[in-house]
Amino acid sequence: MARDEAYRDRSVLIHGKFKSEKWDFQDHMIPPITTAVSFRLRSAERGAEGFRRFANPEVDRSTAHPIYIYDRLDEPCTGLLEETLAFAEKGECAVCFGTGMAAVSAAIGIQAQAGDHVVFHPAIYGCTYSHITRWLGRFGIQSTAADLTCTDSLIAALRPETKVVYFESPCNPTMDLIDLEAMSAAVAHANQKRSPENQVATVIDNTFASPFAQRPLTLGIDFSVHSLTKHIGGFGATMGGVVVGPSSKETDLLVYRKDFGGSISPDAAWHILVYGVPTLALRLAQQQETAMKVAEFLELHKKISKVRYPGLDSFPQKQLALKQMRDIDGNFAPGAMLFFEMAGSPEESYAAAMKVCDHLAAHALSVTLAVSLGQIRTLVEHPASMTHSAIPPEAQAEAGISPGGIRLSVGLEDGRDILRDLEAALDCA
Ligand SMILES: *Cc1c(COP(=O)(O)O)cnc(C)c1O
Repeated sequence: MARDEAYRDRSVLIHGKFKSEKWDFQDHMIPPITTAVSFRLRSAERGAEGFRRFANPEVDRSTAHPIYIYDRLDEPCTGLLEETLAFAEKGECAVCFGTGMAAVSAAIGIQAQAGDHVVFHPAIYGCTYSHITRWLGRFGIQSTAADLTCTDSLIAALRPETKVVYFESPCNPTMDLIDLEAMSAAVAHANQKRSPENQVATVIDNTFASPFAQRPLTLGIDFSVHSLTKHIGGFGATMGGVVVGPSSKETDLLVYRKDFGGSISPDAAWHILVYGVPTLALRLAQQQETAMKVAEFLELHKKISKVRYPGLDSFPQKQLALKQMRDIDGNFAPGAMLFFEMAGSPEESYAAAMKVCDHLAAHALSVTLAVSLGQIRTLVEHPASMTHSAIPPEAQAEAGISPGGIRLSVGLEDGRDILRDLEAALDCA
């Protein structure tokens, strides 16, 4: 009697055919999505082997045949996405997380413990600011904001117990750049005088540029973090995060993910792998072309006092942008994000920015008032009252997040429509 026939229908309907050769990730042009909380271990020995191998530095994840155990530990779509992202960022290993913030907390969390210290640039994503200032202190990790656009202030902020230098470039939302080579060189110099356990790691959140426009690890930065929710996911439909870094830290990243539980869902990993990553270069090239036109238009507008876009000649750090923001072919890649400020006193510019946002929300098709960025839709938002409201007003001022500042993430709409919608909104402000 075949095995299936010895069992009641009810049991067979649960288990199906006991063994199947139907799953194979090698021959599918599009990988299957599998969601399996746990995986059949086949034998006790194999189960033990799976646990022995998980996050084991002696096992090369890229070549060893995987033994999957439980989705929070590892699963195929996530692994495929990780291989692709490590390649895109030119890093040794990548570990994905459920959101960008889960990735940010892991990149800091694997390096710093009670008694340690983190230096960060003050213009950063609002939740990252909140993570560092509100939560790290509770774990006994001190932090200092320092202007990291200036190497001297970086050096001055380093303490013997500093373990992490954390920043974005371009910064959210001001578009300030940090010189990645100068930063790497300064930290490498400081590290020469430190013991192996006391090294300082540099962590960049590369979400604004994406690997299309900048690959920080090739310039000496240790870790590159992304919110996959943004440019890499690209369609605004899925959340995710990744930390790309040296393979010596892969074990810590995997164990951190396992124990804090910030795993990406297989479904999200699949969408980012199948739709987001393959279209990144095409989307960004087009969005960046439109962003340049939008920046030029805004710069000439009399109601706007300042436009910050790395592609403009007026951009204060244009030379640095030319040096480090490059696509894989070496072309200048200023990206698709820009920031502009409404003219007038702080009160006037704040009111004008609110009016522009309200007008766009009520009338525009091609520009949507919404947070997030890096989508195929053009998104506008007011950092001071929205994404960066977790940063207190004094710290906002210090970080250059002006009350009348507006952040724009340029999408794939026809650039003429974006200009028309912006013009109408600015006329009313
Ligand atoms: C959105 C964002 C994050 C957080 O990512 P989530 O996926 O929303 O958790 C972190 N850094 C930057 C620069 C972001 O834009």
